[in-house]
Amino acid sequence: MKKEQIMKIFEDTAYVRMGGSAEELRAAEYLKAQCAAFGAEAQIVPFEVDMATIQTAKFYADGEEVTCKGYLCAGSGEVEAPFYYLRSNDEYSLSQCKGKIVMIDGYLGYWMYHDLLENGAVGFITYDGNVNYADNDIDQRELRSYVSKGNKIPGVNINAKTAVELIKRDIKTAKIVLEQEEYKGNSHNVILDLPGEVDEYIVLTAHYDSTSLSQGAYDNMSGSVGILGVAEYFANRPHRYGLRFVWCGSEERGLLGAKAYCADEEALKKIVLNINLDMIGCTMGKFIACCTTEESLTHYIKYFGLEYGMSVRAYQDVYSSDSTPFADKGVPALSFARVAPPNTGTIHNSYDTIALMRGEQMEEDIAFITAFTERMANAKCCPVKRTIPDNMKDKLDIYLTRKRDKKN
Ligand SMILES: [Zn+2]
Repeated sequence: MKKEQIMKIFEDTAYVRMGGSAEELRAAEYLKAQCAAFGAEAQIVPFEVDMATIQTAKFYADGEEVTCKGYLCAGSGEVEAPFYYLRSNDEYSLSQCKGKIVMIDGYLGYWMYHDLLENGAVGFITYDGNVNYADNDIDQRELRSYVSKGNKIPGVNINAKTAVELIKRDIKTAKIVLEQEEYKGNSHNVILDLPGEVDEYIVLTAHYDSTSLSQGAYDNMSGSVGILGVAEYFANRPHRYGLRFVWCGSEERGLLGAKAYCADEEALKKIVLNINLDMIGCTMGKFIACCTTEESLTHYIKYFGLEYGMSVRAYQDVYSSDSTPFADKGVPALSFARVAPPNTGTIHNSYDTIALMRGEQMEEDIAFITAFTERMANAKCCPVKRTIPDNMKDKLDIYLTRKRDKKN
């Protein structure tokens, strides 16, 4: 795929497309049309997701209203309580949460939410953004169902500058009013099959949804264009293994598209390998291959990079992306990414636009991924063992919150 066409796709998809939204479906239809343009017929496959429409979200600090966004799927209600800033999750700090509205740093993950509930918090506040940025943006967050497990307390998200102000002012009380309608909706995967000579498949994945403030050019229209480029290359070329391309919806909401796809365990039996792309082609940064596979693949990719003439760092780990549900079901899975240093490319905010992308780098990354895919697709026998080694199983248990990491 040529850089002009690549950059045109970034321009055409320069809009926010949250999982389950009409805009996400619009992007799905766009990707399907891109496949049709090279003569391939993709399917749009719906799957159910939680949705919510917020009617009221208000946050008062010592009686004064503070700009916020309410957490989706965090229920409805009104709560007024002492304010507490939980700086760390040591036992002393947690013991101070009882009966309070608690502000935390960072994301509200499964274990943090679990800690808040265990310790009697009655509401929560998170913040995002950066005190050094000019904007006052606030991301639209949700209380994910696998985090809440039905136990909901109201919460809001605020800008980092506001959070700093609250601490400087030493506020004592907080009040959250949250009203919302919660319902079920649909997100979509876009699936394209290019059958091979044998009835076994290599699945290439990339998510095409974005977070609430982001046009998601880097994260992850880049990977979506990447697998589109690979699909275009193979559409009229023979290959031994079948190739299936899945543009996943709702990755940003907890890998929901990949989880929905991997729910069909019978279909997974025919999959020998998953190649996932999440963030490629940015101007700065290094190219990596994160392999949730046996260690041998990391050596293979290193050698392949040297042979091909591509700087690539390959290692074993769990990548926070659509490769993970595959690995969790026993399918060896790897993610390719070009990782930008954070001061040259950030994600999940309004700065993730076409400005981060470089057409020449996209071409180069797609060419390498295509070459790697070609080796695997035409292998007489897929060289990657269809097992997940124990060290990766441990990491999957931690990532998928079945086990708690000592650091958390
Ligand atoms: Zn992503």
